[in-house]
Amino acid sequence: MEDIAVKGLVIREVQVGEADKLITLLTPDLGRIAASVKGAFSLKSKNAASSQLLTYSSFILRKKGERYYVRESSYIENFMNIRYDLERLALANYICDIAYDIATDTEENPELVQLVLNTLYALSEKQEIPAGKIKGAFEFRLAVQEGFMPDLSCCGRCGREPGGADGGEWALDIMEGMLLCGKCMDEKRELLPEDGDLGGIYAPLPGKVTDALRYLEEAEPKKILAFSLGAKDLPAFGNVCEKYLLNHLGHGFTSLEYYRKIRNT
Ligand SMILES: [Zn+2]
Repeated sequence: MEDIAVKGLVIREVQVGEADKLITLLTPDLGRIAASVKGAFSLKSKNAASSQLLTYSSFILRKKGERYYVRESSYIENFMNIRYDLERLALANYICDIAYDIATDTEENPELVQLVLNTLYALSEKQEIPAGKIKGAFEFRLAVQEGFMPDLSCCGRCGREPGGADGGEWALDIMEGMLLCGKCMDEKRELLPEDGDLGGIYAPLPGKVTDALRYLEEAEPKKILAFSLGAKDLPAFGNVCEKYLLNHLGHGFTSLEYYRKIRNT
């Protein structure tokens, strides 16, 4: 038997029997690990608060065979305000699902943990920042961190740089990870029969959306939300960030569908 000390965010919990539960921790050093919490639902449990979903805690785990058991724990941050807001809570669950999907059992990924913690902190404490902006910043930054960095320097077809007088309607070619200028989009359309499908996935980049994406590629971890974006550009920003990440992960999430439902009611 060996004990290990680890910090981890509870990203999933499943009740086991009457009083126990199995939690999944996202840790900076050990990736994703599952641990049993004996008596977690008992009133006397000293691990109840620190083993709750969306809580970042210090744990002493005991390994028996292939399983971990929580011996002691104390919470560091519980992002309490998220629980009072249905939209933000739904978004936090979606973020935990993505983290679960990306983290592996053994590999350390401190950048992922930091991004998730910073995002949950913003959802809890930065009520003035729209949830949609926090969501998009998380999605796009995560895609970049995981190695899916699009080329945002110039049109991938003709080499023209964004900005300038003939700005036009730019778009991101999601699958190729490159920009397309309005002229090249038009030329692509002209090659097709009327109402023909362009093929691939293109997300429009109006206003300052390209600048926001460029900012997210380079920003310091704690400053990823320090970019300005007008309210009218927020839907396009949300659209491109979500499509970009989900296309590279290769699937959607039930928790994302739930978030959409909540947001529209
Ligand atoms: Zn072009």
